[in-house]
Amino acid sequence: MLNVVIFGAPGSGKGTQSELIMKEFGLDHISTGEVLRSEIKNETDLGKIAAGYIDKGQLVPDALIIDILSCVLDSKQNAKGVIFDGFPRTIPQAQALKKMLNERGTDVAVMLNLEVEENELIDRLLARGKLSGRSDDNLETIQLRLDVYHSQTAPLIVHYKQEGKYRSIKGTGTIEYIFEQIKNIIATCQTS
Ligand code: ADP
Repeated sequence: MLNVVIFGAPGSGKGTQSELIMKEFGLDHISTGEVLRSEIKNETDLGKIAAGYIDKGQLVPDALIIDILSCVLDSKQNAKGVIFDGFPRTIPQAQALKKMLNERGTDVAVMLNLEVEENELIDRLLARGKLSGRSDDNLETIQLRLDVYHSQTAPLIVHYKQEGKYRSIKGTGTIEYIFEQIKNIIATCQTS
Protein backbone atom coordinates (compact mmCIF):
# COMPACT_ATOMS: atom_id res chain seq x y z
CA MET A 1 0.00 0.00 0.00
CA LEU A 2 1.06 3.56 -0.68
CA ASN A 3 0.16 5.56 2.41
CA VAL A 4 0.54 9.32 2.34
CA VAL A 5 0.10 11.65 5.31
CA ILE A 6 -0.95 15.10 4.14
CA PHE A 7 -0.01 17.55 6.82
CA GLY A 8 -0.29 21.27 7.53
CA ALA A 9 -2.01 23.89 9.66
CA PRO A 10 -5.77 24.42 9.35
CA GLY A 11 -6.39 26.12 6.01
CA SER A 12 -3.17 24.88 4.40
CA GLY A 13 -5.05 23.08 1.60
CA LYS A 14 -4.90 19.46 2.75
CA GLY A 15 -8.45 18.64 1.61
CA THR A 16 -8.05 20.31 -1.78
CA GLN A 17 -4.78 18.55 -2.55
CA SER A 18 -6.12 15.22 -1.22
CA GLU A 19 -8.86 15.28 -3.86
CA LEU A 20 -6.26 15.70 -6.60
CA ILE A 21 -3.96 13.00 -5.19
CA MET A 22 -6.92 10.58 -4.98
CA LYS A 23 -7.74 11.06 -8.65
CA GLU A 24 -4.16 10.97 -9.91
CA PHE A 25 -2.92 7.95 -7.94
CA GLY A 26 -6.15 6.05 -7.25
CA LEU A 27 -5.70 6.25 -3.50
CA ASP A 28 -8.49 6.29 -0.89
CA HIS A 29 -8.91 9.37 1.28
CA ILE A 30 -9.53 9.44 5.03
CA SER A 31 -10.28 12.88 6.46
CA THR A 32 -10.89 12.65 10.20
CA GLY A 33 -12.47 16.13 10.12
CA GLU A 34 -14.99 14.93 7.51
CA VAL A 35 -15.71 11.75 9.46
CA LEU A 36 -16.43 13.83 12.57
CA ARG A 37 -18.58 16.37 10.71
CA SER A 38 -20.65 13.56 9.25
CA GLU A 39 -21.20 12.11 12.74
CA ILE A 40 -22.27 15.57 13.95
CA LYS A 41 -24.68 15.97 11.02
CA ASN A 42 -26.22 12.56 11.78
CA GLU A 43 -26.51 13.51 15.46
CA THR A 44 -24.79 10.33 16.66
CA ASP A 45 -23.43 9.98 20.21
CA LEU A 46 -19.94 10.29 18.83
CA GLY A 47 -20.96 13.42 16.91
CA LYS A 48 -22.32 15.00 20.07
CA ILE A 49 -19.06 14.39 21.92
CA ALA A 50 -16.94 15.59 18.99
CA ALA A 51 -18.92 18.81 18.52
CA GLY A 52 -18.04 19.88 22.06
CA TYR A 53 -14.34 19.85 21.16
CA ILE A 54 -14.51 21.07 17.56
CA ASP A 55 -16.53 24.16 18.40
CA LYS A 56 -13.94 25.14 21.01
CA GLY A 57 -11.10 24.67 18.53
CA GLN A 58 -9.76 21.74 20.58
CA LEU A 59 -8.70 18.30 19.43
CA VAL A 60 -10.97 15.33 20.00
CA PRO A 61 -9.21 13.06 22.57
CA ASP A 62 -6.60 10.70 21.13
CA ALA A 63 -8.26 7.48 22.33
CA LEU A 64 -11.51 8.38 20.60
CA ILE A 65 -10.04 9.46 17.29
CA ILE A 66 -7.63 6.50 17.19
CA ASP A 67 -10.58 4.10 17.59
CA ILE A 68 -12.47 5.83 14.79
CA LEU A 69 -9.44 5.77 12.52
CA SER A 70 -8.90 2.07 13.16
CA CYS A 71 -12.51 1.29 12.13
CA VAL A 72 -12.29 3.40 9.00
CA LEU A 73 -8.98 1.76 8.11
CA ASP A 74 -10.56 -1.69 8.37
CA SER A 75 -13.00 -0.65 5.66
CA LYS A 76 -10.08 0.18 3.35
CA GLN A 77 -8.41 -3.23 3.33
CA ASN A 78 -8.43 -3.47 -0.46
CA ALA A 79 -7.25 0.05 -1.12
CA LYS A 80 -4.18 0.65 -3.25
CA GLY A 81 -3.17 3.16 -0.61
CA VAL A 82 -4.63 5.79 1.68
CA ILE A 83 -4.20 9.55 2.05
CA PHE A 84 -4.43 10.47 5.72
CA ASP A 85 -5.80 14.02 5.98
CA GLY A 86 -6.05 15.56 9.44
CA PHE A 87 -4.58 12.47 11.11
CA PRO A 88 -2.20 12.15 12.88
CA ARG A 89 -2.46 15.43 14.79
CA THR A 90 -0.49 14.44 17.91
CA ILE A 91 2.55 12.26 18.63
CA PRO A 92 0.42 9.48 20.23
CA GLN A 93 -1.75 9.47 17.08
CA ALA A 94 1.37 9.09 14.91
CA GLN A 95 2.56 6.19 17.05
CA ALA A 96 -0.88 4.57 16.85
CA LEU A 97 -0.99 5.02 13.08
CA LYS A 98 2.38 3.34 12.67
CA LYS A 99 1.24 0.42 14.82
CA MET A 100 -2.04 0.03 12.95
CA LEU A 101 -0.35 0.10 9.56
CA ASN A 102 2.44 -2.26 10.65
CA GLU A 103 -0.18 -4.74 11.90
CA ARG A 104 -1.68 -4.60 8.42
CA GLY A 105 1.74 -5.20 6.84
CA THR A 106 2.29 -1.65 5.65
CA ASP A 107 3.58 1.78 6.80
CA VAL A 108 3.51 5.51 6.05
CA ALA A 109 5.47 6.13 2.84
CA VAL A 110 5.75 9.90 3.11
CA MET A 111 4.56 12.89 5.12
CA LEU A 112 3.89 15.99 3.00
CA ASN A 113 3.90 19.29 4.89
CA LEU A 114 2.02 22.11 3.16
CA GLU A 115 3.66 25.29 4.43
CA VAL A 116 1.56 28.47 4.45
CA GLU A 117 2.07 31.72 6.40
CA GLU A 118 -0.26 32.41 9.28
CA ASN A 119 -1.93 35.53 7.77
CA GLU A 120 -2.78 33.62 4.64
CA LEU A 121 -4.20 30.73 6.70
CA ILE A 122 -6.49 33.08 8.59
CA ASP A 123 -7.69 34.78 5.39
CA ARG A 124 -8.43 31.41 3.77
CA LEU A 125 -10.31 30.05 6.78
CA LEU A 126 -12.42 33.19 7.15
CA ALA A 127 -13.29 33.04 3.44
CA ARG A 128 -14.16 29.33 3.74
CA GLY A 129 -16.32 30.02 6.79
CA LYS A 130 -18.45 32.45 4.78
CA LEU A 131 -19.06 29.84 2.09
CA SER A 132 -19.32 26.60 4.06
CA GLY A 133 -20.78 27.89 7.28
CA ARG A 134 -18.40 25.58 9.19
CA SER A 135 -18.94 26.28 12.87
CA ASP A 136 -15.19 26.38 13.58
CA ASP A 137 -14.25 28.81 10.76
CA ASN A 138 -14.71 32.01 12.78
CA LEU A 139 -11.85 34.24 13.94
CA GLU A 140 -11.94 33.25 17.61
CA THR A 141 -11.97 29.49 16.93
CA ILE A 142 -9.41 29.83 14.12
CA GLN A 143 -6.95 31.43 16.58
CA LEU A 144 -7.50 28.59 19.04
CA ARG A 145 -7.01 25.96 16.30
CA LEU A 146 -3.77 27.61 15.22
CA ASP A 147 -2.54 27.60 18.84
CA VAL A 148 -3.42 23.90 19.11
CA TYR A 149 -1.65 23.27 15.81
CA HIS A 150 1.57 24.90 17.07
CA SER A 151 1.57 23.22 20.48
CA GLN A 152 0.27 19.71 19.69
CA THR A 153 0.51 19.07 15.96
CA ALA A 154 3.66 20.85 14.71
CA PRO A 155 5.93 18.53 16.82
CA LEU A 156 5.05 15.84 14.26
CA ILE A 157 7.40 17.59 11.83
CA VAL A 158 10.42 16.56 13.91
CA HIS A 159 8.89 13.11 14.46
CA TYR A 160 8.59 12.38 10.73
CA LYS A 161 11.96 14.00 9.98
CA GLN A 162 13.49 11.48 12.39
CA GLU A 163 11.72 8.69 10.50
CA GLY A 164 13.16 10.04 7.22
CA LYS A 165 9.67 10.52 5.79
CA TYR A 166 9.29 14.29 5.93
CA ARG A 167 8.89 16.41 2.78
CA SER A 168 8.07 20.11 2.77
CA ILE A 169 6.00 21.82 0.08
CA LYS A 170 5.31 25.53 -0.34
CA GLY A 171 1.54 25.66 0.05
CA THR A 172 1.05 29.01 -1.71
CA GLY A 173 0.68 29.65 -5.44
CA THR A 174 -1.87 28.01 -7.71
CA ILE A 175 -3.55 24.75 -6.70
CA GLU A 176 -2.12 23.16 -9.87
CA TYR A 177 1.44 24.30 -9.14
CA ILE A 178 1.30 22.97 -5.57
CA PHE A 179 -0.10 19.68 -6.89
CA GLU A 180 2.79 19.38 -9.39
CA GLN A 181 5.27 19.37 -6.48
CA ILE A 182 3.20 16.77 -4.64
CA LYS A 183 2.85 14.61 -7.73
CA ASN A 184 6.60 14.53 -8.25
CA ILE A 185 7.25 13.48 -4.66
CA ILE A 186 4.59 10.73 -4.64
CA ALA A 187 5.84 9.41 -7.97
CA THR A 188 9.28 8.85 -6.44
CA CYS A 189 7.66 7.00 -3.50
CA GLN A 190 5.91 4.68 -5.91
CA THR A 191 9.10 3.56 -7.55
CA SER A 192 11.14 3.21 -4.35
P1 ADP B 1 -8.74 21.85 9.68
O1 ADP B 1 -7.53 21.15 9.14
O2 ADP B 1 -9.19 22.99 8.85
O3 ADP B 1 -8.64 22.22 11.13
P2 ADP B 1 -10.29 19.34 9.90
O4 ADP B 1 -11.54 19.12 9.13
O5 ADP B 1 -9.13 18.49 9.60
O6 ADP B 1 -9.98 20.88 9.61
O7 ADP B 1 -10.58 19.23 11.48
C1 ADP B 1 -11.61 19.95 12.12
C2 ADP B 1 -11.63 19.65 13.61
O8 ADP B 1 -11.92 18.25 13.83
C3 ADP B 1 -10.32 19.89 14.37
O9 ADP B 1 -10.17 21.23 14.79
C4 ADP B 1 -10.48 18.91 15.57
O10 ADP B 1 -11.31 19.45 16.56
C5 ADP B 1 -11.20 17.72 14.95
N1 ADP B 1 -10.22 16.71 14.47
C6 ADP B 1 -10.01 16.35 13.18
N2 ADP B 1 -9.03 15.42 13.10
C7 ADP B 1 -8.61 15.19 14.37
C8 ADP B 1 -7.61 14.37 14.97
N3 ADP B 1 -6.81 13.59 14.23
N4 ADP B 1 -7.45 14.40 16.32
C9 ADP B 1 -8.23 15.19 17.09
N5 ADP B 1 -9.19 15.98 16.60
C10 ADP B 1 -9.38 16.01 15.26
